[in-house]
Amino acid sequence: MYQSTASIYRSVQHASELSDAHCHLNLFPNPEAVVKEAVAHGMRLILATGGCAKDNLQVAALSKGEIVFGIVGIAPDFALKEADSIDDLKALVKGSGKIIGIGEIGLDYKVAKSDEEKGIQADAFERQIRIANDLEIPIVVHSRGALKETIHILDRHHVRRAMFHFFEGNGKEAKELEERGYLMSVPPVANRARKEAIREIDIKNVVVETDSPVVGKTPMDVAKALEMISKIKGIPQGELAQITTDNLREFFYI
Ligand SMILES: [Zn+2]
Repeated sequence: MYQSTASIYRSVQHASELSDAHCHLNLFPNPEAVVKEAVAHGMRLILATGGCAKDNLQVAALSKGEIVFGIVGIAPDFALKEADSIDDLKALVKGSGKIIGIGEIGLDYKVAKSDEEKGIQADAFERQIRIANDLEIPIVVHSRGALKETIHILDRHHVRRAMFHFFEGNGKEAKELEERGYLMSVPPVANRARKEAIREIDIKNVVVETDSPVVGKTPMDVAKALEMISKIKGIPQGELAQITTDNLREFFYI
């Protein structure tokens, strides 16, 4: 029987698995309902990410079932106030079994008000890299206005697995990630540098995220990132959904 292109496309899309590489599930008023709704629409993997002591505990509690995995860490904007709780991360990871990375951690030079504060961020970042290296788990990087310094620190610590959340670099900088085998996570926000980065980088190094509810509304907003990548790479969205989900699974060993 004749099958229209549109219906073939729909069936491909239906068969493919969606994933959100970075969201803040604990910040939704009803996280369980958000997961349920997303699963009903093909979502198969959600990385719930922390960033401060309170969020990390909530992320640990939400990381259950087959879909939701957790990432815990002290983000650069909390490095000043909460550096002490970095000591708790190891026990949190070991006690959970579903926490698969340390993040979001890194440098945020838009938040740092002085060189001293930049130093405090770097110190917190490096302490957490050491923890991830000890546990042999990946890190999820938050880098704003500090990409060069961030990569320098990763190189110095011989970090093998890093996923750059909300990657803000250009094409040349995307290549630096690719060379190291790192992942570039694409948010549902388009700009010139991001389009260039997507064009340059190998699709094997690409995953999609929403950063919801901070940026995207729900994890289903990965569709907007997939649409942007699809236009640039010329790969159908359904196929891309599967590729990015497979990339995420391979990278995190899940
Ligand atoms: Zn985030």
